[in-house]
Amino acid sequence: MSSNVVVTGGAGFLGSNLCQKLLDEGSNVICIDNFYTGRESNISNLLDNDRFELINHDIRDEIELDSSLKIDEIYNLACPASPPHYQQDPVYTFETSVLGVRNVLQLARKTSAKVLHASTSEIYGDPLVHPQPESYWGNVNPMGIRSCYDEGKRAAETMIFDYSQQYGVAAKLVRIFNTYGPKMRSDDGRVVSNFIVQALKGEDITVYGDGKQTRSFCYVDDLIDGIISVMNAGKVATPYNLGNPNEFTMIELAEKVLQLTSSNSKLVMKPLPKDDPKQRQPAIEKIKNELSWSPKVQLEDGLRMAISYFATEIS
Ligand code: NAD
Ligand code: UDP
Repeated sequence: MSSNVVVTGGAGFLGSNLCQKLLDEGSNVICIDNFYTGRESNISNLLDNDRFELINHDIRDEIELDSSLKIDEIYNLACPASPPHYQQDPVYTFETSVLGVRNVLQLARKTSAKVLHASTSEIYGDPLVHPQPESYWGNVNPMGIRSCYDEGKRAAETMIFDYSQQYGVAAKLVRIFNTYGPKMRSDDGRVVSNFIVQALKGEDITVYGDGKQTRSFCYVDDLIDGIISVMNAGKVATPYNLGNPNEFTMIELAEKVLQLTSSNSKLVMKPLPKDDPKQRQPAIEKIKNELSWSPKVQLEDGLRMAISYFATEIS
C-alpha cells in the first residue's frame, strides 16, 4: 500500500521538488503551505493528481488532519529560507521555526508518523571550524539580522531532540547547505538566482562585500535524494549535513554564471550584509558512510540546468 506523506512548505522551492519526487515514487502527498514564499505555479502540475492534496494552512497554528487518515511520514520544510524573505518579518520567521516544528512534532506524536525536519548550515553561523562537521556547535549571533532564522532553526533542532527523547517521536534532521535549481523564484534573493537572472537580463551582477566569501552549492535533485534517504534510513535525533562540498567564492560563481550565459553583465560591489558568514563547506563523511549518499551534479552542469529554467521563468 502506498504511504501517506505530509510535506509542509510543499509549494516552495525544495518542497515542490520533494512533492514531485514522492508522487513519482508512488506516495500519496498532502502539501501544507500558506504561500508566504511559495507559489501555486510550483505545484500547478500536481493539482490534477488524485494522490496530491493541498491544504492552505499556517504551521504556526495547530495542524489538524482527518483523524481516520494514517500518516506515515512528515517532512517539515515550511519556513522562509532566503535572507531578504526571512528578514522581512523576523518574528514570523522565528515563530514558524519554533511553533511550526512544535505543531509538526505534535502531529507526529498523535499519528505515530516519522518526521524529518529541514535544518540548515546556518546553525553553524559564521563558522570558526572549516569544513563544518555535524559535531561543530557553531558561532551564531543571537541578536542580529540573521538570528531569527539561525536561532529559530537551532531551537527547532532542540525540539526535535526533546520530542524524540521525551515522547519517543521518530524525528530526523538534515542540515541543508546552499541549494539551487528549478522552482526557485526569480526574485528569491539568494545568490544563485540573483546572479543568473541578472546575467540573463544583462543587468549588473551584485556581488556583496569583496566577493571572497565562500559557499558550497548543491543541485536540488541531489538534495532531494539525500532528504529521502535520511527519512528512510537515517538515525533518529541525529543531524546529517546535506550539501555539495565543492566550495567557491562569490566572484568565482559570478564568473561561471557570466561564462555559461555568455552575458556581458558587469560585476558591481555592494555592501556586505551584517553577519554574513565568511566561509561555508559541508563535511559529508557521515552521510556518505552511513547512507552511501553523495552529490552527483557538479556546479557547471547544475548551473546549466538552472539557467535554462530561469530563462523560461523570466521570458
Ligand atoms: P522557500 O521559501 O522556497 O519555501 C518555503 C515554503 O514554506 C514556502 O512554500 C512558504 O510559503 C512555506 N511557508 C513559510 N512559512 C510558512 C508557515 N508558517 N506555514 C506554512 N507554510 C509556510 O524555501 P526553500 O529553499 O524551499 O527551503 C525549504 C526549507 O529548507 C526551509 O525550512 C529552509 O530553512 C530549508 N533550507 C533550505 C536551504 C536551501 O538552500 N534551499 C538551505 C538550508 C535550509
Ligand atoms: N550574495 C551576493 N550577491 C547577491 C546575493 C548574495 O554576493 O546578490 C552573497 C551573500 O552576501 C552571501 C552569499 O552570496 O555571502 C550567499 O548568499 P545567499 O543569500 O544565497 O545564502 P546564505 O548567505 O544564506 O548562505
